[in-house]
Amino acid sequence: SQRVVIIGAGIVGTNLADELVSRGWKDITVVEQGPLSMPGGSTSHAPGLVFQTNTSKTMTHLARYTVEKLLSIEKDGKKCFNQVGGLEVATTPARLEELKRKHGYATSWGIESRLVGAEECFQRYPHLNKDMVLGGLHIPSDGLALAARATQLLIERTTKAGVRYLGHTPVTGIERAGRRVTGVTTPGGTIPAEIVVSCAGFWGVELGAMVGVQIPLLPLAHQYAKTTAVPALAGRAINSSINGMNAELPILRHQDQDLYYREHGDQYGIGYYGHRPMPVIASSLGLTPQHVDDKHMPSRLDFTTEDFDPAWKETQKLLPILQQTEIADGFNGIFSFTPDGGPILGQPSHLDGFYVAEAVWVTHSAGVARALAQILTTGQSEIDVSECELSRFEKIQLSHDYVSETSQQNFVEIYDILHPLQPRTSPRNLRVSPFHARESELGAFFLETGGWERPWWYEANKDLVKALPPSWKPVDRDAWSTQFHSPISAAEAWKTRNAVAMFDMTAFHRFEVSGPGAVGLLQRLTTGDMATKVGTVTYTLLLNDHGKILTDIFTHRLAEDAFQIGANTATDLAYLEREARVQGQNSPGQWVQVRDVTGSTCCIGLWGPRARDVLGGITTEDLSNAGLPYFSLKNTILSGIPVTLIRKSYVGELGWEIQTSAEYGQRLWDTIWQAGQLHGLIAAGRSAFNSMRIEKGYRIYGSDMTTEHNPFEAGVSHAVDPTKSADFVGKAALQRLAAQTPARRLRPLTIDDGRSVVLGKEPVFYKGKPAGYVTSAAFGYSVGKPVAYAWLPGNVRDGESVEVEYFGKKIRATVAAESLYDPDMSRLTQ
Ligand code: FAD
Repeated sequence: SQRVVIIGAGIVGTNLADELVSRGWKDITVVEQGPLSMPGGSTSHAPGLVFQTNTSKTMTHLARYTVEKLLSIEKDGKKCFNQVGGLEVATTPARLEELKRKHGYATSWGIESRLVGAEECFQRYPHLNKDMVLGGLHIPSDGLALAARATQLLIERTTKAGVRYLGHTPVTGIERAGRRVTGVTTPGGTIPAEIVVSCAGFWGVELGAMVGVQIPLLPLAHQYAKTTAVPALAGRAINSSINGMNAELPILRHQDQDLYYREHGDQYGIGYYGHRPMPVIASSLGLTPQHVDDKHMPSRLDFTTEDFDPAWKETQKLLPILQQTEIADGFNGIFSFTPDGGPILGQPSHLDGFYVAEAVWVTHSAGVARALAQILTTGQSEIDVSECELSRFEKIQLSHDYVSETSQQNFVEIYDILHPLQPRTSPRNLRVSPFHARESELGAFFLETGGWERPWWYEANKDLVKALPPSWKPVDRDAWSTQFHSPISAAEAWKTRNAVAMFDMTAFHRFEVSGPGAVGLLQRLTTGDMATKVGTVTYTLLLNDHGKILTDIFTHRLAEDAFQIGANTATDLAYLEREARVQGQNSPGQWVQVRDVTGSTCCIGLWGPRARDVLGGITTEDLSNAGLPYFSLKNTILSGIPVTLIRKSYVGELGWEIQTSAEYGQRLWDTIWQAGQLHGLIAAGRSAFNSMRIEKGYRIYGSDMTTEHNPFEAGVSHAVDPTKSADFVGKAALQRLAAQTPARRLRPLTIDDGRSVVLGKEPVFYKGKPAGYVTSAAFGYSVGKPVAYAWLPGNVRDGESVEVEYFGKKIRATVAAESLYDPDMSRLTQ
C-alpha cells in the first residue's frame, strides 16, 4: 500500500477511496475544496439517471458495475439506487430503428432489454402522449442513482475504514521530485503522497496544469429543471418518500428532442441537451464558498429560460399531464465533455504517481473507480479501459481549440443517431499524408481517425465496378450498412486480389525505438524474440503481468540498436515511452529513445499478385523470396528515392510496405503509380482493406481483442515465440494460461444468405441463446459472402450454426476455420 491523495470528494473520488480501502490500502486522504456535506461539484446536483446501454462494451460494463455497487450501499433502510427501469421512446421511424440497434448492444454486453410497442410504452408510462410514441426500449435494471446520498454514505463508511477526509481544502499545487509526485500543496501545508489521483471533475484541466498535463475536457453547462407539483400526482410525494426514493416510473428518454425525464415525488425533472453549447472555464468560477447549498454551488449557474423554451413546449406535448404545471426551478449545471465523449482515466507518460479519473458520469462512476483501483493494486482493470485512457489522444487532439470544438460537438450530438463510420465534419484536414493531393485527384472519399484523413475508396475506380466478374458483383445492402459505403470497394478488392493496388498506410503509428537498451526493452516487453538479425520483421504482442494483451505490434529491426515499431495507438507510445524512461533511470547504460515518426514518414502498401512486377520496374534489388523473404526488410533506393521495403501485407497478398520520409512521399507515389500502370495498378482504400484483412484473419487491436483477452482466446498465440528464453512481461501468466482450455474464442463467421452485411457489435446467438458478439465485419468479396469475427464460447466447433441479430432480425451464420482466405499463406510467399 502506498500513500494516496485523492483530489475531489464527488461520486468518483469517494468511490475510489472506497475501492482502494476495500482492497486493503491504508493511507488514503481525500482532499476537497468544498464542504464535505455538499462539496458543490457536479455530483451535488446530479439527477442521477443511469441508462446503462451504450454502443461501447466498456462503458456499458462500467455502468453495470455502478448499478450493482450502488444497489449494495444502504443505510437505515435507505438505498442509493432506485431501480425503476429505463424507457427510451421513439417518436420517429429512424429512432425506432436505432432502438433496435441499441437492443442489440444491450444483448451483446449482457444487459437484459426489451423492444416494446407503443401500447406497452403507454402501460409502463401512462403519462405519455399515445399519438406521439412509436415504440420503445425497456431496460429493467436501469434507474436512478442517488449520487449525493451515495457520496455521503461512502464518506461515512470509508472514514470508518480509516480514510481521512479534508473538507474546505483546495489543492493549489502538486509537488514533485524529478519525475515523481511527492504530494499536494494546500493552504494548510503539504500532504505527502506517492500517488495523487485527480478526481476533480470539470476542474480537471486546472489540476492537470499543475503538473504540465493537458486534460482534454471542456466544462459545459446543461439545463435541468423541475416542474411545480403535478396536481394529478398530489400525494405521490408522501407515498414515494416512504421508500425514500421519490420516483416510481421508469427514467424516460425522448432523444428525438434531446430530452430526458425523472420524477421527484409529485414533481417532474427535465433534462435538456437541445440548447446551444455553453462552455465554462472552471477557474473563472472562483473558489468554492464556505457555504454551499442546493441553490448556491459552483457547478450551478443561473437558468437561462429562453434556452429552455423549446424543451418545455416539447415536454408538454410528450407528457400532456405537465400542461398543468410550470417550471418551478431550473439551473444550468456544469459537467465535463471530451472530444470523443469518453471519460479520462490513467496517467501521463512523463510523470510517475499522478493519475486522473475525470469526465466521468455518475452512470460510470463506481465502474471507473474500481477500474483505477484495480490498476493501482494489481496492474490491470478487469474491464478493458483502453478507450478511456488519458494517453489515447493524439497531440493534435490536445489543443484547446480542438478540445473545445469537438467537445461542444459531442454535446450537440449527444442523443443523435450516429452511424459507426460517421465522420466529424469539422475540424478536418488536420493531418494529411504526402499522398493527399494525388488521392484527392483520384476522388478519394476520406474518413477521419486520430486527425488523419484516410481514403475509404476512390471514385476514379468507379468504372471497374461494371467490369467485375459476376461472382464479385457487390450485393445490395440495407439502408444502414449502405451509409459510408461504396460498391467501388468490391472493385478495389478484386484488383488487389487479381492484379495490384496501392494503399496509403501513413496513418498507422510508427515509432522508432533506439539506443543501447533497445533490444533489452523489447525483449522484456514483447512475446517475440527480438535478438534477431538486422532486417527481420516480427509480429508480436505486448502483454500485462496477467497475460492479457496490451497491444499487438510489428517490430522492424533496422540496426543493431534500432527498431521501428508498427503500433496501434497513442497509448502504445505512452507505454513504450514510460517503460523506456524507467529502464534508463534504473540502468543508465541501457537507455532507450522512443520517437514517434508517424508524421515524419509515410508508407504505401503495394499489394497484389503483380506487386513484384511493379516494383521490379523501378529497382534492381533482388525481390525474390530468396533476395527479400516474407517478413524481412531492406533499405534501398527506388528511382532515386531512399526507401525501406518491408515484405509484409495486411491484406494477405504478395507485396511490400514501402516507407520513406515525408518530403519524398509525393514523388514516391508518382513513381510507383507510373511503374504500375503497365500492370493494372490502382489506388485502393480502407473499405476494401478492411474486408480483405478480415478474410485473412488479421485482428485489429481494440475491436477484435483488448486487454480483456489472452493470446490463446484471441487466436494470436502464434505471436508468442515458444523458443524465447528471455523473460518478458506476462510470461509466467502465459505458461499458466497455456494449460487451460479457453472458455471463449474469437472465431470467423460467414453469413449464410450471402448478402446480409452486419457492421460489428451485434449479438451472436448459439443454440438460441445470446453467446457472444461480433467484433469486426465486412463483405468478404473473395469469399463471396459477408464475413465477421465474433467472440463465442470456446466449445463451438467449426461448421456449427449461429445467428447474428441485426435490427431485431436473426441472420444465420456459420463458424468457419481460420483463415477464410489463403490459409496456407501461399499468396504471401509466392
Ligand atoms: P464532481 O462531483 O464535480 O467532483 C469533483 C470534486 O473535486 C468537486 O467536489 C470539487 O469541489 C473538487 N475539486 C475540484 N478542484 C479541486 C481542488 N483544486 N482541490 C480540492 N478539491 C477540488 N450523470 C449521470 O450519470 N446521469 C445523469 O442523469 C446526470 N445528469 C446531470 C445533470 C446535470 C444538470 C449535470 C450538470 C450533470 C449531470 N450528470 C449526470 C453528470 C454527473 O453529474 C457528473 O459527471 C458527475 O457527478 C461527476 O462526478 P465527479 O466526482 O467526477 O465530479
